[in-house]
Amino acid sequence: MKISMVSEHASPLAALGGVDAGGQNVHVAALSSSLARRGHQVTVYTRRDDPSLPATVQVAPGLSVVHVDAGPAARIPKDELLPFMGELADGICAHWGNQTPDVVHAHFWMSGLAAIQAARRSGAATAIPVVQTFHALGAVKKRHQGAADTSPPARDWLEPWVGRTADWVIATCPDEVFELKALGISRSKISIAPCGVDLTLFPGTEQAETKPRAHRILSVGRLVPRKGVDLIIQALPLLAEAGFDDVELLIVGGSGDALTLEEDPEAQRLRALTKELGVEDKVTMRGQVPRDAMPGIFRSADAVVCAPWYEPFGIVPLEAMACGVPVVAAAVGGLRETVVDQKTGLHVPPRNPEAIADALAKLLADPASRVDMGKAGMRRARSRYSWDRIAADTEKAYRSVLAAGLSRQAGEGLEPLEGTAL
Ligand code: UDP
Repeated sequence: MKISMVSEHASPLAALGGVDAGGQNVHVAALSSSLARRGHQVTVYTRRDDPSLPATVQVAPGLSVVHVDAGPAARIPKDELLPFMGELADGICAHWGNQTPDVVHAHFWMSGLAAIQAARRSGAATAIPVVQTFHALGAVKKRHQGAADTSPPARDWLEPWVGRTADWVIATCPDEVFELKALGISRSKISIAPCGVDLTLFPGTEQAETKPRAHRILSVGRLVPRKGVDLIIQALPLLAEAGFDDVELLIVGGSGDALTLEEDPEAQRLRALTKELGVEDKVTMRGQVPRDAMPGIFRSADAVVCAPWYEPFGIVPLEAMACGVPVVAAAVGGLRETVVDQKTGLHVPPRNPEAIADALAKLLADPASRVDMGKAGMRRARSRYSWDRIAADTEKAYRSVLAAGLSRQAGEGLEPLEGTAL
């Protein structure tokens, strides 16, 4: 199959851990590589955010990344990219020429707009099916972030429109299916394919990093408030009260975007909190860490804590599990599926430092159960979350959409959106 992936802000080639560079980048890179290994021709279209980027990068046999000119060739926060989606659609169309793909798979709602518009503008004789993965939903984000949500207001109606207009929607967990249905998207065109974990990289063969204290707790992710790193810091004094004082909390991830941790407001907020709670000597902030250094870091941890307010999926717990490390996970979104309570880690209620401290105390007190949970996590990651398996599920979705044949003619049902600059 000839497959076009559209990932407007999240390039599979970007460094990870910055504000807008995380799971989606990993997902698009790994899924595209696995599909290419299955013999498909995959092209990933992403926005050019640096003038020095080449037009096309051949990443592997059957896999290339195309940098499309759409808006200024500079880093722009993803929530400010909407005005450039029309240009992105035109760039994709131009690159297709008369070699249109069998399917176009969009990642994130804005990419969905570009993909739908590109399919409409392509002039292809047969309609190009559009498959959509949202990665995150505006309705959920707004519910949790309220006024702090920086999404453009038009997301409220454009995102459901993308879901209703796309030919197929791939959700990453059952919780997301529920949310999609609430947006008016028909269940009959939704399938589930979770995110995966790179089992060639994790657990890896490198030595575990040496830990500076008796116990190491690890947090990995973009440094944004909704990831709840502050909740883990708040758990540290409680953990000390429970008798676990010789503990390091290692925080991996940083703002990226050429900011140092000293300049990053979220890093500074967390630093101030460690001082306020008198735990600054227990907390190490490592900043952004390249991918290949991650396995050694995961393997050095006694437990990984994922304490987000909400989480559409969450690849970090899978990486921890693949490395044999138990996970303390807020019981939200995709984490409820990936982390099996009492088996591969412990669930805690969201936004609850006391529960995090209790769960960590349990794990730190019981090395045998840490080992058991680690092994169970490894088995689960290997048996259910390989990218090859997820690529096969994704391919199945593409084939169903192609087999169903599109009832509409090319371009039909994909009318331009009123009131947008598309
Ligand atoms: N990550 C990384 N280096 C960092 C921070 C994060 O490689 O400094 C990776 C992490 O290992 C994971 C991804 O970024 O693969 C984060 O994905 P997740 O789905 O957990 O969170 P999201 O960013 O999608 O909210």
